[in-house]
Amino acid sequence: MYLYNIHTHKFDAAQAADYQVKCILNTYPEDFYARKSLFPDSWFSCGIHPWNAIDANMEQMIKILSEPNVVAVGEVGLDKLKGPELSVQIKVFRQQIELATQKGKPLIIHCVRAWGELIALYKEYNKYSIPWIIHGYRGNPEQTQQLGKIGFKFSLGEKFNVDSLKHIPMENIFCETDMSDLTICKVYENISRDIGVDKNHFATLVARNVEITFR
Ligand SMILES: [Zn+2]
Repeated sequence: MYLYNIHTHKFDAAQAADYQVKCILNTYPEDFYARKSLFPDSWFSCGIHPWNAIDANMEQMIKILSEPNVVAVGEVGLDKLKGPELSVQIKVFRQQIELATQKGKPLIIHCVRAWGELIALYKEYNKYSIPWIIHGYRGNPEQTQQLGKIGFKFSLGEKFNVDSLKHIPMENIFCETDMSDLTICKVYENISRDIGVDKNHFATLVARNVEITFR
C-alpha cells in the first residue's frame, strides 16, 4: 500500500512498515537538476515560490516542466506577509498557472492572507480545469466550505484545523510533510484518527486521489 506525500522539501527514503512511501519532492528552477540527479526515481514539483517572484526564471521553468517525472507546478502562489509586492507575485503566479494549464499539470499552492486574490484567479482560469491544491492547509471551517465549494483541493500536514476536516470531501484531500520532521506515516495517522476512519482505508482513498490527479 502506498502512502503518498504530495509536498515535501526533504526526500523521505524511510519506508514505513507495511507501506511504500512515494513523495513529490518540491524543487525550484535553480535546484531541480541537482535534486533530480540525487533522486532520479522521485516525482517532483517545480515552481517559482512567491517569495522569489522578483527574479523569476520562466525559461528554465518551461524546460523543467517537460521532464516526465515533474508531476506538478508548485509551490506557487501568493503571500501578503513575505516576498515582493503582490502585483509582482500575481504576475509570476499567472505565468505559472498558464504553464500548468498548457502542460495539464496540477498546481500546488502556497497562499498566505491572499485568499480573495487567489479565488479571483481561480475563477478566471478554472475553465481549464487543472486541479488547484492548497498545500499546508490550516483554514477554519467557514473558509474550508467556501474554498471547497469553489473547487479547491486541500493538502494537510503537521498542523491543520481539526474542525475543518468534516468539510473536506474525501476526494479532495491529500497529505504532506512539507518542512516538518514528522513522518508521512504519522501525518496519515493523525488525520485519519481525527476524521474517525481507519488509517489504511484513508490511505487507500488518498492514493486514489493522487493517482487521478498526478498522471
Ligand atoms: Zn513547502
